[in-house]
Formats: sequence, C-alpha cells, structure tokens
Amino acid sequence: MSRRKKNGKREVVWRGVSVAEGAAAGRVLRVHGGAREQVFRATLGAQEARREVRRFRAAVRLARRQLRSLKRRAEQRLGAEHAYIFEAHLLMLEDRKLLDEIEEYILSEHSNAEWAVKVAGDRLLSIYAEIKDDYLRERSSDVEDVLGRLLVALGGGEAEPRGLTEDAILVADELLPSAAAELDFTHVRAIASDAGGWTSHTAIIARALGIPAVVGLRELYRQARTGDEITVDGLSGEVILHPSRETVARVQAEARRSRPRAAEAAGDEGSAAHAPLRTADGVEIVLRANVELPAEFGGVARYGARGVGLYRTEFLFSQRDGRLPTEEEQFDAYSRVAALAGEDGAKVRLFDLGGDKPGANLQEAERNPALGLRAIRYCLSREEVLRTQARAVLRAAARGRLDLLLPMISDVKDVRRARRIVEEERERLVAEGQEAGPVRIGAMIEVPAAVLVADKLAREVDFFNLGTNDLVQYLLAVDRSNDSVADWFRSLHPAVLQSIERALSAARAAGIPSLVCGEMAAAPAYATVLVGLGARDLSMTPAAIPRVRRVLAEVEAGFAESVARECLECATADDAEEVVRVRLGGRWPQLFPPKSLPAPKSGGYNSEEVEHASPTAP
Ligand code: PEP
Ligand code: MG
Repeated sequence: MSRRKKNGKREVVWRGVSVAEGAAAGRVLRVHGGAREQVFRATLGAQEARREVRRFRAAVRLARRQLRSLKRRAEQRLGAEHAYIFEAHLLMLEDRKLLDEIEEYILSEHSNAEWAVKVAGDRLLSIYAEIKDDYLRERSSDVEDVLGRLLVALGGGEAEPRGLTEDAILVADELLPSAAAELDFTHVRAIASDAGGWTSHTAIIARALGIPAVVGLRELYRQARTGDEITVDGLSGEVILHPSRETVARVQAEARRSRPRAAEAAGDEGSAAHAPLRTADGVEIVLRANVELPAEFGGVARYGARGVGLYRTEFLFSQRDGRLPTEEEQFDAYSRVAALAGEDGAKVRLFDLGGDKPGANLQEAERNPALGLRAIRYCLSREEVLRTQARAVLRAAARGRLDLLLPMISDVKDVRRARRIVEEERERLVAEGQEAGPVRIGAMIEVPAAVLVADKLAREVDFFNLGTNDLVQYLLAVDRSNDSVADWFRSLHPAVLQSIERALSAARAAGIPSLVCGEMAAAPAYATVLVGLGARDLSMTPAAIPRVRRVLAEVEAGFAESVARECLECATADDAEEVVRVRLGGRWPQLFPPKSLPAPKSGGYNSEEVEHASPTAP
C-alpha cells in the first residue's frame, strides 16, 4: 500500500467505491458516525455513586488533556485563530457550576455518570436554545461537542473536533445524515468514509452538491487524524493519506479538469434544457428533481426540471437536531418547495424516518431498523406527527401545487389510514376557517409486497413513485449503505426489472400516473432501460438531468423497449448488464469504459456517464 515518503510519513493509498465524481486535496476532518451517543440510565447504590463521581472526575481530566493537546496541535498546524475553539471548550470543562451539577445529580439520584451528563447537558442546551442572540445561541454546538467529548471520555476514548479547516475532507467511519446535516458543506472539499454504498443517503447528498466522495475504505477512519493531509479522487476511487507533493499536484490537476466538466454538463444545454424532452421517435419523457437540502433547490430551475418529483422532508429533522419541526416551520418549508416547483408541482413525502434516514433520535433504538418502526409505520404510530405534517402540506397546497407521498407502503390498510387522517385534518382546517389546497395522495413503491399488490394499491392512491433504492435493498435483501455487500446490490437484477415493469403496468391499467425516483433514473443507461420498461416520468438529483436528457433525446423508445425485453429474459444481473453494455455501448460508447480497464470493485460500468448509477455501476 505504501509508496513514497513525505515529512517522514509514507503515502498510504486506499481504494474504495467512488460514489460522487471530482477530486480534491485537503486536510482530514474526522467525523464520528454522527449518531448521537445512546445514553442509558443505571441506578447505583450510595457507595457506587461516590465511586461514580470519581470516575466522572477522571473523565473530565482526560477530556481536558485531550483538549490541551488538540489545542497545541491546532496552533502548530493551522495557526492560533483555529485553536481558540479548544480554549472555549476547555473553559466549559473548568465551569464548576456545570461539573457540580453533574456530580450532585450522580449522588442525589444514584445515577450513572453518563446519564447525569445527559440530564445536565440537556438542561444547559435548552437554556442556549432560548437565547435571542444568534451568535451566542449557535455556541450551543460547542456545548454539544464538549458533552459528547465527556461521554466518549467516560468510555475511555477520544473524541475529535469538528469544523477546523476551510479545506476539510471529511473522513468518517460512516457519515450518517444526521451528522452530514450538521456540517457546513460549503467548506467540505470531499468525503471519504469507511462504510456506505451507492444509494446511501450521504452518497445521494454528495452527488447532489457536487462533492467528490469515496466510500468503502474500511480502515481509513482509524488511521487518519484530523489535520493530516489527504487526497480524494472520486473518479478512480483512490484516497491517499500523507500524499507527496507530486500526488497533491496530480490530484489538484484532476480537480481542475473535472470541475469544468461538471459545469459544462450544467450550462451547455441553453434553452434546450427547458424544452420538452422527446425520445428520437417522439415519445415524451418528463424529468423532475429529487430535492432535500436547500442547497439543491437552485438546480431545479437551472437544469430545467419539470417540478419536484420527490421532496425528502426528513431533512427538516436533521436541521433541527432531531426535533420535530412545528407546523409553521413545515408550512414555510413546503410553501417554499411549492414556489420552487411552480405549476408542475412537488411531491412531498411524509417523514421517511428510520433506517438509513435521519431523525433516529426520535425513536427507540431498534434491533433491526431497516425493518422497524420506520416511514409510514412511524407516522401512523405517532399520529400527531402525521397530523401536523398533513396540516402543513394542505395549507401550503393552497399556495402552490403539492401532492403527498406515503413512504414504504406495504399494505393497502396503511394507505387507507393515512388518507383518512389527511381528510380529517382537511376538515379541521376548513372548520377553523383556514385554507386547504387540493392534494393528491401517492404511494412509494419500494417494498416487494407493494409490487405484488400493486394492482390493489393503484385503486387506492392517485399516483405511484417507484423508489428503486429501497426496492433493490428489500427485494435482494442487501443493505443499501453497507459497502461489504455492494457487489450484491444489482439494479439490473431480473427480479428488480420484473418488479419495476409490474408496478408501472399496474399504474397504467388503473389509469394513474407513475414515476421512477430512485438513483437508477439518474444514470443514462439505466434510465434507458426504465423507459424501455414503460417509465415516462423520471425524477433524479437535479445535476443528473442534463446527462440523462442528452441520451434519452437520442434513444428511440422502441429500441429502449427491445433492450429492456432482452434484459427481462436474462437469468442474472451480470447478463442484463452485458446486454445493456452491448446494445447501448455501440451507439453511446462514452457510457462505458473500454473493457481493458480494471474492473471496478462491484463489477459494473465505470464510465463518465453511468459511473454513479448504483454500487453495480460505480
Ligand atoms: C428510494 O428508495 O428509491 C427513494 C427514492 O427514496 P430514498 O432514497 O429517500 O429512500
Ligand atoms: Mg426509499
């Protein structure tokens, strides 16, 4: 693995799965997972409580030592202006009032130290939340950092700081959306994480924001230290720790080369970007935008999206540190999305919490979150959450065109219950003299059961959104965020293709619209297969629209159908990928790399155009 030397340190080269293109050189900013530490309450005897106070004091001493050494390191490497933050953190750990409060709680409540830190910390944070002054209120993140450090120190470990440099390259074990949402992405040059997959949430966000990202790096997080020099190449999947000067120069040149390419993808289209898209044989295809972060909103108009095909509302949680957004906050957010989407409208998805999504700290820790109380199940079991969201959407729908989308539907019964609740809230709004706009209700088709009962579901909802990310995950029993099973995440698996065709034809038979909004739609080759399977409406991260548009404008729908038919006949995903490679590669060679290139880790396409279709197409 090691190559050359620099400042006594050897270059260490890692190869992972590239999930967002581009390249960058910078300094490591280590971010631990991001999931808030789970803290449990333990009841102690009086003597144990006194011992617990001593354990707490030792943890405070450890945390202080860590902070002093971090401060020294930051001063040396980054200058005094970057080190003040640790001074502030140290002062917090000298604050007798906070420390006494924690110790008194341990002794009076016979509590373990972790729980006492959480109770005192929550109290302190609630005071910060009330502060009117923006600057002071924002300091609460420092309080959280210090509390997190204390909790880690109680376990004997070391917490790392956040937000040090302007050329930060995030290095995470697994970058969860809750952590991602806390970070200021304007300063993030690239992301490198040990775990993660093509359709993991963070990969989706990285692509949407144009940040190069490589996942599946296994041990990088353990070896990298905040402040270390690092390079990330989102095309080759190469990440180099302690790079030599030549390596930095090479990667910087690659970064300069890849930037204009992305800009060109965006700007080249001119007015064509906004003209209706037709295939070469005249079939109209609608391209819409998937959005979540406000940073993505600009892309909707820029890339000529016909409205918003999927608005992932979970972001509203992570922005508020896991707190449920109020009706007014939601009303503002949905009104903004309605204005953004214009007359083509936006499909607002009910909170799809749990699993790989943010908001987990509202929920109990689950043994198997992918199969747990998530998405529609969470909404139905916390009816007040659903009612608040429904009211906010209905009110915003009076200002612009909005539809409501139900996530992870597996049973018609869930649709009926959700529909009834939405109708009740509509009646209440009217009784209160408030305006409520017309809202169509659709189902995400992303669970195998929904495909099997698609004909029944189609009679109960107004439209289908096919979520291929979860459909692949649940059909093939492959965790979409786990790089060690990335080879099994196959978008062109015959079971996936049959399911897509079946769901689309159920919608057609029932006379309701359907769209495909999973990551598959964002890869031109896969988008062609989707059109061949009968899709006429695709929704994707806005930045992907130009390249999908370019290819679909040249494809005949009849040709796409014959490719899809051939894929449906295949026994394996490998065979289907070969069909696509052979049938499309002749006309669009840029979609596929020469076969002589080293095979990507997950054995799929490795081209400029389809490189990011799925873990099978890195
Ligand atoms: C999907 O599952 O394909 C989808 C579009 O939703 P998400 O990626 O938010 O789960
Ligand atoms: Mg989904």
